[in-house]
Amino acid sequence: MAETFLVESPDVTYSKDYIEAKYMYSTVHVSREDGVTKVKPHLTEFTFRTERQVPRLGVMLVGWGGNNGTTVTAAVLANRLGLSWMTKTGRKHANYYGSLLQASTICLGTGPTGDVYVPFRDLLPMVHPNDLIFDGWDISSLNLAEAMRRAKVLDWQLQEQLWPHMVKMKPRPSIYIPGFIAANQEERADNVLHGTKAEQVVQIRRDIQEFKVTSGVDKVVVLWTANTERFCDVLPGVNDTAANLLQAIERGLEVSPSTLFAVASILEGCAYINGSPQNTFVPGAVELALQRRVFICGDDFKSGQTKLKSVLVDFLVSAGLKTVSIVSYNHLGNNDGKNLSAPQQFRSKEASKSNVVDDMVQSNPLLYGPQEKPDHCVVIKYVPYVGDSKRALDEYTSEIMMGGTNTIAIHNTCEDSLLASPIILDLAILTELCQRISFCTESDPDFQGFHSVLSILGFLCKAPLVPEGSPVVNALFRQRSCIENILRACVGLPPQNHMLLEHKMQ
Ligand code: NAD
Repeated sequence: MAETFLVESPDVTYSKDYIEAKYMYSTVHVSREDGVTKVKPHLTEFTFRTERQVPRLGVMLVGWGGNNGTTVTAAVLANRLGLSWMTKTGRKHANYYGSLLQASTICLGTGPTGDVYVPFRDLLPMVHPNDLIFDGWDISSLNLAEAMRRAKVLDWQLQEQLWPHMVKMKPRPSIYIPGFIAANQEERADNVLHGTKAEQVVQIRRDIQEFKVTSGVDKVVVLWTANTERFCDVLPGVNDTAANLLQAIERGLEVSPSTLFAVASILEGCAYINGSPQNTFVPGAVELALQRRVFICGDDFKSGQTKLKSVLVDFLVSAGLKTVSIVSYNHLGNNDGKNLSAPQQFRSKEASKSNVVDDMVQSNPLLYGPQEKPDHCVVIKYVPYVGDSKRALDEYTSEIMMGGTNTIAIHNTCEDSLLASPIILDLAILTELCQRISFCTESDPDFQGFHSVLSILGFLCKAPLVPEGSPVVNALFRQRSCIENILRACVGLPPQNHMLLEHKMQ
Protein backbone atom coordinates (compact mmCIF):
# COMPACT_ATOMS: atom_id res chain seq x y z
CA MET A 1 0.00 0.00 0.00
CA ALA A 2 1.48 3.37 -0.96
CA GLU A 3 1.08 5.75 1.96
CA THR A 4 2.56 9.15 1.16
CA PHE A 5 4.04 9.46 4.65
CA LEU A 6 5.01 7.12 7.49
CA VAL A 7 4.63 7.96 11.16
CA GLU A 8 7.73 6.97 13.16
CA SER A 9 6.55 6.29 16.68
CA PRO A 10 6.60 3.35 19.08
CA ASP A 11 2.81 3.76 19.23
CA VAL A 12 2.26 3.21 15.50
CA THR A 13 2.79 -0.03 13.59
CA TYR A 14 2.31 -0.78 9.91
CA SER A 15 1.67 -4.44 9.10
CA LYS A 16 0.82 -5.86 5.68
CA ASP A 17 -2.90 -5.51 6.39
CA TYR A 18 -3.27 -2.80 9.04
CA ILE A 19 -2.11 0.50 10.43
CA GLU A 20 -2.41 0.25 14.20
CA ALA A 21 -2.02 3.25 16.50
CA LYS A 22 -2.19 3.72 20.23
CA TYR A 23 -3.80 7.01 21.08
CA MET A 24 -4.43 8.86 24.34
CA TYR A 25 -7.89 10.44 24.15
CA SER A 26 -8.04 13.43 26.46
CA THR A 27 -11.45 14.63 27.70
CA VAL A 28 -12.73 16.72 30.59
CA HIS A 29 -15.60 15.67 32.87
CA VAL A 30 -17.55 18.44 34.58
CA SER A 31 -19.83 17.82 37.58
CA ARG A 32 -21.58 19.93 40.17
CA GLU A 33 -20.87 18.72 43.71
CA ASP A 34 -21.85 20.57 46.94
CA GLY A 35 -22.42 23.77 45.00
CA VAL A 36 -18.97 23.61 43.40
CA THR A 37 -18.32 22.95 39.69
CA LYS A 38 -15.65 20.24 39.57
CA VAL A 39 -13.62 19.83 36.40
CA LYS A 40 -11.62 16.63 35.99
CA PRO A 41 -9.30 15.96 33.04
CA HIS A 42 -9.50 12.34 31.93
CA LEU A 43 -7.34 10.15 29.67
CA THR A 44 -8.48 7.00 27.83
CA GLU A 45 -6.08 4.83 25.85
CA PHE A 46 -7.51 3.83 22.48
CA THR A 47 -6.03 1.50 19.88
CA PHE A 48 -7.15 2.33 16.34
CA ARG A 49 -6.81 -0.23 13.57
CA THR A 50 -7.28 0.68 9.91
CA GLU A 51 -7.35 -1.87 7.11
CA ARG A 52 -4.88 -0.79 4.43
CA GLN A 53 -6.43 -2.60 1.49
CA VAL A 54 -8.58 -0.15 -0.47
CA PRO A 55 -11.55 -1.91 -2.12
CA ARG A 56 -13.20 -1.28 -5.47
CA LEU A 57 -16.17 0.84 -4.49
CA GLY A 58 -19.52 1.06 -6.24
CA VAL A 59 -21.90 3.94 -5.57
CA MET A 60 -25.58 3.46 -6.36
CA LEU A 61 -27.47 6.73 -6.55
CA VAL A 62 -31.22 6.96 -6.06
CA GLY A 63 -32.14 9.83 -8.39
CA TRP A 64 -29.19 9.05 -10.72
CA GLY A 65 -30.78 10.94 -13.60
CA GLY A 66 -31.19 14.18 -11.64
CA ASN A 67 -28.94 17.23 -11.62
CA ASN A 68 -26.71 15.94 -8.83
CA GLY A 69 -26.66 12.37 -10.13
CA THR A 70 -25.65 13.30 -13.66
CA THR A 71 -23.22 16.00 -12.57
CA VAL A 72 -21.29 13.83 -10.12
CA THR A 73 -21.11 10.98 -12.65
CA ALA A 74 -19.93 13.38 -15.37
CA ALA A 75 -17.36 14.99 -13.05
CA VAL A 76 -15.78 11.66 -12.15
CA LEU A 77 -15.66 10.59 -15.81
CA ALA A 78 -14.15 13.92 -16.85
CA ASN A 79 -11.48 13.66 -14.15
CA ARG A 80 -10.73 10.02 -14.97
CA LEU A 81 -10.37 10.86 -18.67
CA GLY A 82 -8.40 14.05 -17.94
CA LEU A 83 -10.81 16.14 -20.01
CA SER A 84 -10.57 19.85 -20.71
CA TRP A 85 -12.89 22.15 -22.68
CA MET A 86 -13.07 25.67 -24.00
CA THR A 87 -15.44 28.29 -22.58
CA LYS A 88 -15.74 32.01 -23.34
CA THR A 89 -13.33 32.68 -20.47
CA GLY A 90 -10.72 30.13 -21.56
CA ARG A 91 -9.85 26.46 -21.22
CA LYS A 92 -11.20 24.64 -18.14
CA HIS A 93 -9.79 21.40 -16.77
CA ALA A 94 -11.65 18.72 -14.82
CA ASN A 95 -11.02 19.03 -11.09
CA TYR A 96 -12.46 18.14 -7.70
CA TYR A 97 -12.80 21.62 -6.20
CA GLY A 98 -15.22 21.57 -3.27
CA SER A 99 -14.17 18.12 -2.10
CA LEU A 100 -12.83 18.07 1.45
CA LEU A 101 -10.75 15.01 0.65
CA GLN A 102 -9.47 15.89 -2.83
CA ALA A 103 -9.13 19.66 -2.69
CA SER A 104 -8.33 20.58 0.91
CA THR A 105 -5.24 19.90 2.97
CA ILE A 106 -4.21 19.11 6.52
CA CYS A 107 -1.04 20.18 8.30
CA LEU A 108 1.12 17.16 9.18
CA GLY A 109 3.56 19.16 11.29
CA THR A 110 6.53 21.44 10.93
CA GLY A 111 9.57 20.74 8.72
CA PRO A 112 12.82 22.64 8.10
CA THR A 113 11.02 25.11 5.82
CA GLY A 114 7.83 25.53 7.83
CA ASP A 115 4.48 23.77 8.03
CA VAL A 116 4.03 20.70 5.82
CA TYR A 117 0.57 20.26 4.29
CA VAL A 118 -0.69 17.13 2.57
CA PRO A 119 -3.98 16.52 0.78
CA PHE A 120 -6.67 15.39 3.22
CA ARG A 121 -7.00 12.18 1.14
CA ASP A 122 -3.42 11.17 2.05
CA LEU A 123 -4.11 10.90 5.76
CA LEU A 124 -5.23 7.26 5.43
CA PRO A 125 -5.57 4.82 2.52
CA MET A 126 -8.84 5.64 0.79
CA VAL A 127 -10.67 5.17 -2.48
CA HIS A 128 -9.90 7.77 -5.15
CA PRO A 129 -13.02 9.22 -6.80
CA ASN A 130 -11.63 8.42 -10.27
CA ASP A 131 -11.99 4.73 -9.36
CA LEU A 132 -15.65 4.88 -8.29
CA ILE A 133 -18.16 2.90 -10.34
CA PHE A 134 -21.63 4.48 -10.53
CA ASP A 135 -25.01 2.90 -11.02
CA GLY A 136 -28.47 3.77 -9.75
CA TRP A 137 -32.18 4.24 -10.11
CA ASP A 138 -34.46 7.00 -11.36
CA ILE A 139 -38.18 7.29 -11.95
CA SER A 140 -37.25 9.06 -15.20
CA SER A 141 -35.98 6.77 -17.96
CA LEU A 142 -33.61 9.20 -19.72
CA ASN A 143 -30.11 7.85 -20.17
CA LEU A 144 -27.39 9.76 -18.33
CA ALA A 145 -26.24 11.68 -21.42
CA GLU A 146 -29.72 13.03 -22.11
CA ALA A 147 -30.29 13.62 -18.42
CA MET A 148 -27.03 15.61 -18.28
CA ARG A 149 -28.36 17.79 -21.13
CA ARG A 150 -31.69 18.22 -19.31
CA ALA A 151 -29.81 19.33 -16.16
CA LYS A 152 -28.08 22.25 -18.01
CA VAL A 153 -25.22 22.32 -15.52
CA LEU A 154 -22.09 21.53 -17.53
CA ASP A 155 -20.61 23.46 -20.44
CA TRP A 156 -21.70 22.18 -23.84
CA GLN A 157 -18.23 21.25 -25.10
CA LEU A 158 -17.73 19.07 -22.04
CA GLN A 159 -21.13 17.46 -22.51
CA GLU A 160 -20.20 16.59 -26.09
CA GLN A 161 -17.04 14.81 -24.96
CA LEU A 162 -18.88 12.91 -22.24
CA TRP A 163 -21.88 11.98 -24.37
CA PRO A 164 -20.59 8.64 -25.79
CA HIS A 165 -19.64 7.49 -22.29
CA MET A 166 -22.87 8.51 -20.59
CA VAL A 167 -25.35 7.51 -23.26
CA LYS A 168 -24.72 3.88 -22.29
CA MET A 169 -25.71 4.49 -18.67
CA LYS A 170 -29.39 3.98 -17.94
CA PRO A 171 -31.07 4.31 -14.55
CA ARG A 172 -32.83 1.27 -13.18
CA PRO A 173 -36.63 1.53 -12.65
CA SER A 174 -37.39 2.90 -9.20
CA ILE A 175 -39.96 2.95 -6.44
CA TYR A 176 -42.48 5.72 -7.06
CA ILE A 177 -45.22 6.57 -4.57
CA PRO A 178 -46.73 9.81 -5.92
CA GLY A 179 -47.82 11.33 -2.60
CA PHE A 180 -44.26 11.63 -1.27
CA ILE A 181 -42.84 14.04 -3.83
CA ALA A 182 -44.55 16.99 -5.48
CA ALA A 183 -47.37 16.30 -7.93
CA ASN A 184 -45.39 18.29 -10.52
CA GLN A 185 -42.89 15.39 -10.77
CA GLU A 186 -45.43 12.99 -12.20
CA GLU A 187 -44.69 13.83 -15.84
CA ARG A 188 -41.14 12.45 -15.57
CA ALA A 189 -42.13 9.21 -13.83
CA ASP A 190 -41.90 6.78 -16.77
CA ASN A 191 -39.45 4.28 -15.24
CA VAL A 192 -41.14 2.84 -12.20
CA LEU A 193 -41.40 -0.51 -10.45
CA HIS A 194 -44.74 -2.21 -9.97
CA GLY A 195 -45.91 -4.71 -7.40
CA THR A 196 -46.28 -4.59 -3.63
CA LYS A 197 -43.90 -2.65 -1.38
CA ALA A 198 -42.32 -5.93 -0.29
CA GLU A 199 -41.80 -7.01 -3.91
CA GLN A 200 -40.23 -3.65 -4.76
CA VAL A 201 -37.80 -3.94 -1.84
CA VAL A 202 -36.84 -7.41 -3.10
CA GLN A 203 -36.22 -5.93 -6.56
CA ILE A 204 -33.98 -3.17 -5.15
CA ARG A 205 -32.01 -5.83 -3.25
CA ARG A 206 -31.67 -7.81 -6.48
CA ASP A 207 -30.43 -4.69 -8.29
CA ILE A 208 -27.71 -4.18 -5.66
CA GLN A 209 -26.64 -7.83 -5.91
CA GLU A 210 -26.65 -7.73 -9.69
CA PHE A 211 -24.61 -4.51 -9.81
CA LYS A 212 -22.05 -6.00 -7.46
CA VAL A 213 -21.59 -9.07 -9.66
CA THR A 214 -21.56 -7.38 -13.06
CA SER A 215 -19.33 -4.46 -12.07
CA GLY A 216 -16.93 -6.49 -9.96
CA VAL A 217 -16.92 -4.00 -7.09
CA ASP A 218 -16.10 -5.24 -3.58
CA LYS A 219 -18.49 -2.92 -1.75
CA VAL A 220 -21.53 -0.81 -2.53
CA VAL A 221 -22.70 2.40 -0.88
CA VAL A 222 -26.26 3.56 -1.65
CA LEU A 223 -27.00 7.29 -1.59
CA TRP A 224 -30.34 9.11 -1.92
CA THR A 225 -30.03 12.17 -4.15
CA ALA A 226 -33.60 11.92 -5.44
CA ASN A 227 -36.28 14.52 -4.83
CA THR A 228 -37.10 15.76 -1.37
CA GLU A 229 -40.03 13.83 0.06
CA ARG A 230 -42.61 15.08 2.50
CA PHE A 231 -42.06 14.02 6.08
CA CYS A 232 -43.74 10.78 7.04
CA ASP A 233 -45.57 10.29 10.34
CA VAL A 234 -43.75 8.26 12.95
CA LEU A 235 -46.43 5.83 14.08
CA PRO A 236 -46.34 3.23 16.83
CA GLY A 237 -46.77 -0.22 15.31
CA VAL A 238 -45.74 0.99 11.83
CA ASN A 239 -42.22 2.37 11.83
CA ASP A 240 -41.21 2.71 15.49
CA THR A 241 -39.19 -0.52 15.62
CA ALA A 242 -37.27 -2.58 13.08
CA ALA A 243 -39.70 -5.48 13.35
CA ASN A 244 -42.72 -3.20 12.90
CA LEU A 245 -41.16 -1.49 9.90
CA LEU A 246 -40.46 -4.82 8.17
CA GLN A 247 -44.03 -5.88 8.99
CA ALA A 248 -45.40 -2.60 7.65
CA ILE A 249 -43.61 -3.22 4.35
CA GLU A 250 -45.10 -6.73 4.14
CA ARG A 251 -48.56 -5.36 4.92
CA GLY A 252 -48.28 -2.47 2.45
CA LEU A 253 -48.69 0.25 5.08
CA GLU A 254 -47.31 3.76 4.60
CA VAL A 255 -43.53 3.63 4.15
CA SER A 256 -41.76 6.25 2.04
CA PRO A 257 -39.71 5.27 -1.02
CA SER A 258 -36.54 6.57 0.67
CA THR A 259 -37.15 4.36 3.71
CA LEU A 260 -37.82 1.39 1.43
CA PHE A 261 -34.44 2.03 -0.22
CA ALA A 262 -32.79 2.35 3.21
CA VAL A 263 -34.28 -0.97 4.32
CA ALA A 264 -33.23 -2.73 1.10
CA SER A 265 -29.69 -1.46 1.37
CA ILE A 266 -29.35 -2.22 5.09
CA LEU A 267 -30.61 -5.77 4.44
CA GLU A 268 -27.92 -6.06 1.76
CA GLY A 269 -25.29 -4.86 4.27
CA CYS A 270 -24.69 -1.67 2.27
CA ALA A 271 -24.25 1.71 3.94
CA TYR A 272 -27.09 4.14 3.15
CA ILE A 273 -26.69 7.91 2.95
CA ASN A 274 -29.58 10.38 2.80
CA GLY A 275 -28.75 13.55 0.87
CA SER A 276 -32.22 15.06 1.20
CA PRO A 277 -34.03 16.49 4.23
CA GLN A 278 -36.91 14.04 4.72
CA ASN A 279 -37.11 11.76 7.77
CA THR A 280 -36.07 8.58 5.97
CA PHE A 281 -34.46 7.32 9.16
CA VAL A 282 -37.59 6.62 11.15
CA PRO A 283 -36.80 4.85 14.46
CA GLY A 284 -37.41 1.42 12.88
CA ALA A 285 -34.85 2.09 10.14
CA VAL A 286 -32.25 3.22 12.70
CA GLU A 287 -32.88 0.10 14.78
CA LEU A 288 -32.54 -2.11 11.70
CA ALA A 289 -29.18 -0.49 10.88
CA LEU A 290 -28.00 -1.04 14.46
CA GLN A 291 -29.11 -4.67 14.43
CA ARG A 292 -27.34 -5.33 11.12
CA ARG A 293 -24.30 -3.17 12.01
CA VAL A 294 -24.64 -1.17 8.82
CA PHE A 295 -23.78 2.53 8.56
CA ILE A 296 -26.47 5.09 7.92
CA CYS A 297 -25.72 8.77 7.46
CA GLY A 298 -27.69 11.97 6.80
CA ASP A 299 -29.55 14.18 6.45
CA ASP A 300 -29.42 16.65 3.53
CA PHE A 301 -26.17 17.73 1.87
CA LYS A 302 -24.66 20.80 3.51
CA SER A 303 -23.64 22.57 0.33
CA GLY A 304 -24.19 26.33 0.25
CA GLN A 305 -26.34 28.63 2.34
CA THR A 306 -26.33 26.37 5.40
CA LYS A 307 -22.58 25.84 5.18
CA LEU A 308 -22.06 29.59 5.27
CA LYS A 309 -24.61 29.95 8.07
CA SER A 310 -22.79 27.39 10.19
CA VAL A 311 -19.60 29.41 9.79
CA LEU A 312 -21.00 32.90 10.08
CA VAL A 313 -23.15 32.38 13.17
CA ASP A 314 -20.31 30.47 14.83
CA PHE A 315 -18.07 33.47 14.14
CA LEU A 316 -20.63 36.01 15.41
CA VAL A 317 -21.62 34.17 18.59
CA SER A 318 -18.07 33.13 19.46
CA ALA A 319 -16.98 36.74 18.94
CA GLY A 320 -19.54 37.74 21.57
CA LEU A 321 -22.05 39.31 19.18
CA LYS A 322 -25.70 38.44 19.75
CA THR A 323 -27.24 37.31 16.46
CA VAL A 324 -30.96 38.02 16.78
CA SER A 325 -32.35 37.53 13.28
CA ILE A 326 -31.43 35.36 10.33
CA VAL A 327 -33.47 35.65 7.14
CA SER A 328 -32.65 33.46 4.14
CA TYR A 329 -34.25 33.81 0.73
CA ASN A 330 -33.51 31.33 -2.03
CA HIS A 331 -34.59 31.17 -5.60
CA LEU A 332 -33.65 28.42 -7.98
CA GLY A 333 -34.95 27.06 -11.27
CA ASN A 334 -33.90 23.43 -11.41
CA ASN A 335 -36.11 20.40 -10.85
CA ASP A 336 -35.23 20.40 -7.14
CA GLY A 337 -36.69 23.92 -6.96
CA LYS A 338 -39.78 22.79 -8.84
CA ASN A 339 -40.33 19.96 -6.37
CA LEU A 340 -39.71 22.28 -3.40
CA SER A 341 -42.36 24.69 -4.69
CA ALA A 342 -44.95 22.26 -3.25
CA PRO A 343 -45.77 23.08 0.40
CA GLN A 344 -45.11 19.68 2.03
CA GLN A 345 -41.74 19.21 0.33
CA PHE A 346 -40.78 22.81 1.18
CA ARG A 347 -41.58 22.09 4.83
CA SER A 348 -39.07 19.19 4.89
CA LYS A 349 -36.38 21.56 3.60
CA GLU A 350 -37.44 24.33 5.96
CA ALA A 351 -37.14 21.98 8.95
CA SER A 352 -33.71 20.79 7.83
CA LYS A 353 -32.47 24.37 7.43
CA SER A 354 -33.93 25.74 10.64
CA ASN A 355 -31.99 24.07 13.47
CA VAL A 356 -28.55 24.72 12.09
CA VAL A 357 -27.50 27.38 14.57
CA ASP A 358 -28.87 25.78 17.75
CA ASP A 359 -25.55 24.44 19.06
CA MET A 360 -23.84 27.80 18.54
CA VAL A 361 -26.62 29.69 20.34
CA GLN A 362 -26.69 27.21 23.22
CA SER A 363 -22.92 27.48 23.62
CA ASN A 364 -23.23 31.06 24.84
CA PRO A 365 -25.49 31.56 27.88
CA LEU A 366 -23.96 35.01 28.31
CA LEU A 367 -25.88 36.14 25.24
CA TYR A 368 -28.95 33.88 25.17
CA GLY A 369 -31.42 32.79 27.83
CA PRO A 370 -32.30 29.08 28.13
CA GLN A 371 -35.21 29.21 25.62
CA GLU A 372 -33.95 32.14 23.57
CA LYS A 373 -33.12 31.77 19.87
CA PRO A 374 -32.61 34.17 16.97
CA ASP A 375 -35.63 34.70 14.70
CA HIS A 376 -34.95 32.43 11.76
CA CYS A 377 -36.90 32.57 8.51
CA VAL A 378 -36.31 30.51 5.36
CA VAL A 379 -37.99 31.25 2.01
CA ILE A 380 -37.54 29.19 -1.18
CA LYS A 381 -39.01 30.22 -4.53
CA TYR A 382 -39.00 28.48 -7.91
CA VAL A 383 -37.79 30.69 -10.77
CA PRO A 384 -37.24 28.45 -13.83
CA TYR A 385 -35.01 30.89 -15.75
CA VAL A 386 -32.09 30.71 -13.28
CA GLY A 387 -31.92 26.90 -13.64
CA ASP A 388 -29.31 25.23 -11.46
CA SER A 389 -27.71 28.60 -10.70
CA LYS A 390 -29.24 29.10 -7.29
CA ARG A 391 -29.43 32.50 -5.64
CA ALA A 392 -29.28 32.77 -1.87
CA LEU A 393 -29.81 36.10 -0.13
CA ASP A 394 -29.15 36.17 3.58
CA GLU A 395 -29.48 38.86 6.18
CA TYR A 396 -27.90 38.44 9.63
CA THR A 397 -28.71 40.99 12.29
CA SER A 398 -26.77 41.03 15.55
CA GLU A 399 -26.86 43.21 18.63
CA ILE A 400 -23.49 44.75 19.32
CA MET A 401 -22.17 46.83 22.23
CA MET A 402 -24.33 49.42 23.98
CA GLY A 403 -27.51 49.01 21.93
CA GLY A 404 -25.84 49.03 18.53
CA THR A 405 -26.99 46.84 15.64
CA ASN A 406 -24.92 45.12 12.99
CA THR A 407 -26.60 43.84 9.81
CA ILE A 408 -24.71 41.70 7.33
CA ALA A 409 -26.31 40.99 3.95
CA ILE A 410 -24.94 38.34 1.62
CA HIS A 411 -25.82 37.50 -1.96
CA ASN A 412 -24.59 34.15 -3.22
CA THR A 413 -24.95 32.81 -6.78
CA CYS A 414 -23.74 29.37 -7.63
CA GLU A 415 -24.55 26.17 -9.55
CA ASP A 416 -26.13 24.01 -6.89
CA SER A 417 -25.15 20.65 -8.34
CA LEU A 418 -21.50 21.65 -8.61
CA LEU A 419 -21.54 22.21 -4.84
CA ALA A 420 -23.39 18.98 -4.04
CA SER A 421 -21.33 16.68 -6.30
CA PRO A 422 -18.03 16.83 -4.39
CA ILE A 423 -20.01 16.33 -1.17
CA ILE A 424 -21.49 13.13 -2.61
CA LEU A 425 -17.96 11.88 -3.35
CA ASP A 426 -16.67 12.73 0.14
CA LEU A 427 -19.67 11.06 1.78
CA ALA A 428 -19.22 7.82 -0.16
CA ILE A 429 -15.45 7.67 0.27
CA LEU A 430 -15.42 8.55 3.99
CA THR A 431 -18.23 6.07 4.70
CA GLU A 432 -16.20 3.33 3.06
CA LEU A 433 -13.09 4.37 5.01
CA CYS A 434 -15.04 4.22 8.28
CA GLN A 435 -15.95 0.61 7.44
CA ARG A 436 -12.22 -0.22 7.58
CA ILE A 437 -11.57 1.46 10.95
CA SER A 438 -12.04 -0.31 14.28
CA PHE A 439 -10.88 0.54 17.78
CA CYS A 440 -10.71 -0.71 21.34
CA THR A 441 -9.88 0.73 24.75
CA GLU A 442 -8.12 -0.68 27.81
CA SER A 443 -11.45 -1.31 29.52
CA ASP A 444 -13.16 -2.70 26.39
CA PRO A 445 -10.44 -4.66 24.59
CA ASP A 446 -12.66 -6.18 21.85
CA PHE A 447 -12.31 -4.24 18.62
CA GLN A 448 -15.50 -2.49 17.52
CA GLY A 449 -16.50 -0.22 14.66
CA PHE A 450 -18.14 3.20 14.80
CA HIS A 451 -21.80 3.47 15.83
CA SER A 452 -24.15 2.67 12.94
CA VAL A 453 -25.34 6.28 12.90
CA LEU A 454 -22.22 7.71 11.29
CA SER A 455 -22.22 11.15 12.87
CA ILE A 456 -18.54 11.75 11.98
CA LEU A 457 -19.77 12.95 8.61
CA GLY A 458 -21.79 15.82 10.07
CA PHE A 459 -19.52 18.27 8.19
CA LEU A 460 -21.24 17.18 4.99
CA CYS A 461 -24.84 17.21 6.30
CA LYS A 462 -27.26 20.07 6.93
CA ALA A 463 -29.16 18.28 9.70
CA PRO A 464 -26.68 15.73 11.06
CA LEU A 465 -28.18 12.50 12.28
CA VAL A 466 -26.52 11.42 15.53
CA PRO A 467 -26.85 8.42 17.85
CA GLU A 468 -29.61 8.87 20.42
CA GLY A 469 -28.45 11.12 23.25
CA SER A 470 -25.40 12.50 21.37
CA PRO A 471 -24.94 16.25 20.97
CA VAL A 472 -25.67 17.62 17.51
CA VAL A 473 -22.80 19.74 16.18
CA ASN A 474 -23.51 22.14 13.33
CA ALA A 475 -20.56 24.54 13.61
CA LEU A 476 -18.58 23.83 10.43
CA PHE A 477 -15.03 23.95 11.77
CA ARG A 478 -15.86 21.84 14.79
CA GLN A 479 -17.26 19.29 12.36
CA ARG A 480 -14.14 19.48 10.19
CA SER A 481 -11.87 19.08 13.21
CA CYS A 482 -13.85 16.01 14.23
CA ILE A 483 -13.10 14.23 10.94
CA GLU A 484 -9.52 15.44 10.80
CA ASN A 485 -8.68 14.57 14.40
CA ILE A 486 -10.23 11.11 14.28
CA LEU A 487 -8.30 10.30 11.11
CA ARG A 488 -5.13 11.72 12.68
CA ALA A 489 -5.71 9.47 15.71
CA CYS A 490 -5.79 6.49 13.36
CA VAL A 491 -2.14 7.20 12.48
CA GLY A 492 -1.18 8.15 16.03
CA LEU A 493 -1.00 11.92 15.43
CA PRO A 494 -2.24 14.35 18.10
CA PRO A 495 -5.20 16.64 17.36
CA GLN A 496 -4.41 20.00 15.82
CA ASN A 497 -4.19 22.43 18.75
CA HIS A 498 -2.91 25.53 16.91
CA MET A 499 -0.99 26.59 20.05
CA LEU A 500 2.36 27.11 18.28
CA LEU A 501 4.03 27.24 21.69
CA GLU A 502 7.45 26.73 20.12
CA HIS A 503 7.06 30.20 18.57
CA LYS A 504 5.86 31.84 21.76
CA MET A 505 9.02 31.42 23.84
CA GLN A 506 11.87 33.90 24.26
P1 NAD B 1 -33.24 16.72 -9.31
O1 NAD B 1 -34.70 16.94 -9.22
O2 NAD B 1 -32.51 17.24 -10.48
O3 NAD B 1 -32.92 15.16 -9.22
C1 NAD B 1 -33.66 14.26 -8.48
C2 NAD B 1 -33.93 13.02 -9.33
O4 NAD B 1 -34.61 12.09 -8.51
C3 NAD B 1 -34.80 13.28 -10.54
O5 NAD B 1 -34.15 12.82 -11.69
C4 NAD B 1 -36.07 12.48 -10.27
O6 NAD B 1 -36.62 11.93 -11.43
C5 NAD B 1 -35.54 11.42 -9.33
N1 NAD B 1 -36.50 10.79 -8.41
C6 NAD B 1 -37.52 11.32 -7.70
N2 NAD B 1 -38.09 10.39 -6.92
C7 NAD B 1 -37.41 9.24 -7.12
C8 NAD B 1 -37.51 7.94 -6.59
N3 NAD B 1 -38.45 7.61 -5.73
N4 NAD B 1 -36.60 7.01 -7.00
C9 NAD B 1 -35.64 7.32 -7.91
N5 NAD B 1 -35.52 8.55 -8.45
C10 NAD B 1 -36.38 9.50 -8.06
O7 NAD B 1 -32.64 17.30 -7.95
P2 NAD B 1 -31.11 17.58 -7.55
O8 NAD B 1 -30.83 19.01 -7.80
O9 NAD B 1 -30.24 16.54 -8.17
O10 NAD B 1 -31.19 17.38 -5.98
C11 NAD B 1 -31.41 16.10 -5.46
C12 NAD B 1 -31.73 16.14 -3.99
O11 NAD B 1 -30.60 16.63 -3.28
C13 NAD B 1 -32.90 17.05 -3.63
O12 NAD B 1 -33.71 16.43 -2.67
C14 NAD B 1 -32.23 18.24 -3.02
O13 NAD B 1 -33.05 18.90 -2.09
C15 NAD B 1 -31.05 17.59 -2.35
N6 NAD B 1 -30.01 18.55 -2.05
C16 NAD B 1 -29.35 19.21 -3.06
C17 NAD B 1 -28.36 20.13 -2.75
C18 NAD B 1 -27.58 20.84 -3.80
O14 NAD B 1 -26.77 21.69 -3.49
N7 NAD B 1 -27.73 20.53 -5.04
C19 NAD B 1 -28.08 20.41 -1.41
C20 NAD B 1 -28.77 19.74 -0.41
C21 NAD B 1 -29.72 18.79 -0.75
